[in-house]
Amino acid sequence: MAQRTLWEMTVENFERACDFIGVNDGLRSCLREPRRVLEVSIPIVMDDDSIGVFKGYRVQHNITRGPAKGGIRFSPEVDMDEIKALAMIMTWKCAVVDVPYGGAKGGVACDPGKLSTGEIERLTRKYILEILPLIGPQKDIPAPDVGTNPQIMAWIMDTYSLDQGYTVPGSVTGKPVSIGGSLGREGATALGCVYTILDAIKELSLGEDKFDVIIQGLGNVGWNTARFLFDSGMNIMAVSDIKGGIYNPRGLDPYEVFEYCRNNGTVCGFKDAEDISNKELLEMKCDILVPAAIENQITEKNADRIKAVIIAEAANAPTTPEADCILKEKGIFLIPDLLCNAGGVTVSYFEWVQNVQAIFWNEEEINSKLKIVMDHAFNEVYRFAKQNEIDMRLAATVFAVDKVALATKLRGIYP
Ligand code: NAD
Repeated sequence: MAQRTLWEMTVENFERACDFIGVNDGLRSCLREPRRVLEVSIPIVMDDDSIGVFKGYRVQHNITRGPAKGGIRFSPEVDMDEIKALAMIMTWKCAVVDVPYGGAKGGVACDPGKLSTGEIERLTRKYILEILPLIGPQKDIPAPDVGTNPQIMAWIMDTYSLDQGYTVPGSVTGKPVSIGGSLGREGATALGCVYTILDAIKELSLGEDKFDVIIQGLGNVGWNTARFLFDSGMNIMAVSDIKGGIYNPRGLDPYEVFEYCRNNGTVCGFKDAEDISNKELLEMKCDILVPAAIENQITEKNADRIKAVIIAEAANAPTTPEADCILKEKGIFLIPDLLCNAGGVTVSYFEWVQNVQAIFWNEEEINSKLKIVMDHAFNEVYRFAKQNEIDMRLAATVFAVDKVALATKLRGIYP
């Protein structure tokens, strides 16, 4: 069978939820199709004075429950199909944690590792100028994702603000704290993921063992998840990045690994650990497996060999629908992306609320508000899954689609 695209697989999850709820064909199409898609060409002057031309995208999947919200990805794999799928995932994610946003996503097809800081800045600013008609604090609010960071968010805020003629902190989230970013935002996706893992451990009555953890991807989400779990006493057995992974059954100190990675550009070669491939890493026996890199990592090709008790989807769409069925049969408890990594958009929402009101909360307040949101969402999805004897992904998607469907009916189809 030909490999299906991310959009096709994301739509399959959506259709399963619609079948469960009994959504009619018209409403289904309304909820499925992206509201606005924009593809732009971004020419910039490179450091060697040549002209580089990059493709950029911004998709607003749904804006029924509020302004569109979603990250910006800089990666060579970015294309319209991927961005459309990730935008749809954002719609459902915002609904799962009940933040008053619709879903969006943006991206530029580029390899940030091969661009200088100056080139990344010019690319970012030009991309923002091109998508300017769509974005704004009441319209569509970007945030970080794979390959982007707080500095890039600062350039986005600056470019948007220059166009408006005044400073607009609420135009983007995930920016540095010194220009209106929220305390706790950088670790929020990871902390939200950790809260759901702790909820799952409690619900499954797994006790208080020193759980063995494996994390794929040591970027913003993976690194912060590793340190939070390590700090809470768990055994970080293996971690990886795009170049490969490292393994030590007695445990890795993620702070040392992070420092090593910063100096060497990869985790590979870290002392006191065995180098392994990303493929091997996913298939190792552990209690908690955290895919925190990119999509399509657990597929029908390796799902049968996964030996985790819990899979916590810190990444978006790391598991294909075929793999979902296999994992379910194996009895692996999966915390789906819509729920597991929703801490990022939740604290992005907190950041936006602080920006538009010009008030600021301390980190304790942020983290405790985040915990309330994540625990509540986990419990709602978990109870629903149990009551209806369905898996957690279907439960989360049903929950979300139902809320957006209700909002659509209340607002009506006009004219
Ligand atoms: P990042 O760019 O900071 O880190 C990505 C990590 O994954 C890096 O360590 C990279 O080397 C590794 N990686 C990339 N391709 C890989 C591959 N093929 N195999 C193994 N490792 C690979 O990105 P991030 O912001 O940490 O995002 C990671 C995931 O979390 C993505 O799926 C993203 O959509 C999702 N997510 C991020 C946020 C956020 O707030 N940043 C919020 C929600 C979801």
